[in-house]
Amino acid sequence: MLRLKSALYNISVEDLIREAVKSYQKEIPLLESCLLPGDFCDGGMEVIELPYSVPFKIGSHVQEIVVTDVPAYRCTKCGDIQRDVELVATIEEVFNQEMEERLGSHEPLPSSISLHDLM
Ligand SMILES: [Zn+2]
Repeated sequence: MLRLKSALYNISVEDLIREAVKSYQKEIPLLESCLLPGDFCDGGMEVIELPYSVPFKIGSHVQEIVVTDVPAYRCTKCGDIQRDVELVATIEEVFNQEMEERLGSHEPLPSSISLHDLM
């Protein structure tokens, strides 16, 4: 299916995948309920966007760069905020690659970057 579509639209498989990933959008899956450790809370979770600060090492210097628009969960009852651990780990990985590339091509590092600009 992938190769056929790539041939049909005369686009390389790599470009097709890139385009497909770019246009792919869905609702962020909801957490069912608050998992506040220790205390019991039966609050529901809502999705919010919360900046996430990533320490980036340049030589011996560490610079904090803020990734904006990162989805997180907030309890509507107690206000507890939870991050998606896997999402955060993946952001750090992709973020580091992106910053290494920018350093490699002598581009200045931003003080903040949108999650959408990492995709
Ligand atoms: Zn709660």
